[in-house]
Amino acid sequence: MQDENDLTGATPRRRPKADVLEIGGRKLKPSTLMMGHGFDPALSEGSLKPPIFLTSTFVFESAAAGKRHFEGVTGKRPGGADGLVYSRFNGPNQEILEDRLSLWEDAEDALSFSSGMSAIATLLLTFVQPGDVIVHSGPLYAATETLIGRILGRFGVTWLDFPAGATRDEIESVVARAKTQGRVSLIYLESPANPTNALVDVQAVASVRDALFGEDERPPIAIDNTFLGPLWSRPLDHGADLSVYSLTKYAGGHSDLVAGGVVGSKALINPIRMMRNTIGTITDPNSAWMLLRSLETLELRMSRAGENAAKVCAFLRGHAKVETVGYLGFLEDGGDARQADIYRRHCTGAGSTFSLYLKGGEREAFAFLDSLKIAKLAVSLGGTETLASAPAAMTHLSVPDERKAALGISDNLVRISIGVEDADDLIADFDQALAAI
Ligand SMILES: *Cc1c(COP(=O)(O)O)cnc(C)c1O
Repeated sequence: MQDENDLTGATPRRRPKADVLEIGGRKLKPSTLMMGHGFDPALSEGSLKPPIFLTSTFVFESAAAGKRHFEGVTGKRPGGADGLVYSRFNGPNQEILEDRLSLWEDAEDALSFSSGMSAIATLLLTFVQPGDVIVHSGPLYAATETLIGRILGRFGVTWLDFPAGATRDEIESVVARAKTQGRVSLIYLESPANPTNALVDVQAVASVRDALFGEDERPPIAIDNTFLGPLWSRPLDHGADLSVYSLTKYAGGHSDLVAGGVVGSKALINPIRMMRNTIGTITDPNSAWMLLRSLETLELRMSRAGENAAKVCAFLRGHAKVETVGYLGFLEDGGDARQADIYRRHCTGAGSTFSLYLKGGEREAFAFLDSLKIAKLAVSLGGTETLASAPAAMTHLSVPDERKAALGISDNLVRISIGVEDADDLIADFDQALAAI
């Protein structure tokens, strides 16, 4: 991006060769672009794959170039650094990763973080000030609830929530009430909610926001898209402004790293980048490189896991020892018409994480878990391997009993994340574990 009127004499940074993004008017798909987008082998000795750039700092071509870079980093010039400066701000592996991440949701820009939680924390610190109110859907990932309620609460930030499955009217009354409580600086969503699987009507939230706020006071809508994104849900298409990820889950996909991401418009990403530059929550070069490898198979892995989950859930649903299966793919079969309507408007797949309610209680759930031979007994989700856990006894152990009951976190609940194994092998495993109860 050489500015011809640039009289500073700064050598512009060597930029990767422009990418081919379409052929004959055909826009190339992310699954094609994951193999090369944002990386020019000519800048790395012809290396087919990006090397891992393990360095804490970068050499400037000249003093004037250094000044230009710092103008970008400090926000004197919009758009972030023009060149590489220092690894707390940016690095080649992170920049390639961010270019590729933004493609999945057709976003203008993206940022990578050291974890899903550091992405969420950096986003909150960017937009929220003392006295502000955060409106959020509930329940949220437990650490996000702690961050909003207990940690930001110490700095005079308050919150109001609506249940994930709320109607437009219910959302509107909560947002209207929040406005009387202070400046509403952020609307924060998570869909589907864990472990209820309730979907948030993002279109309804955006319509409420646009109706209740003037253009100059409109709070951004951010959504945690970890469970269905980026393959099965693209919330930016439905009125969200920022889509947030724990890349630890499906994007990383091999249960071997921790990372986070945020994608959205440049106007909203730039201030988050400034906060990240200050507090240093960027992902490290090694994890960024591992994520580049992961993204090459993202569509393959998620598609296979989704197909496997559909087969496994079809098997589990009719089983004599199973009470119900909370799987998004079953929404269409009657029951909750509103949730089915949101699913049709917002989702292109049911994911591979679901709730299995066994007949019985903790004894039956534990017997089932202890009998599994392929599925591993662990929390987390979105990896190549199938995982199973008991939320009431594990992730949600410290949640008060009334709230557990309200969220459907009973002792007979098993959370399952299906991987990319052979579907019939998984069914055989679940079959024998059910028999062992
Ligand atoms: C795991 C997870 C997080 C937190 O991500 P980390 O990478 O563990 O920090 C946030 N939201 C959701 C929905 C998650 O599943």
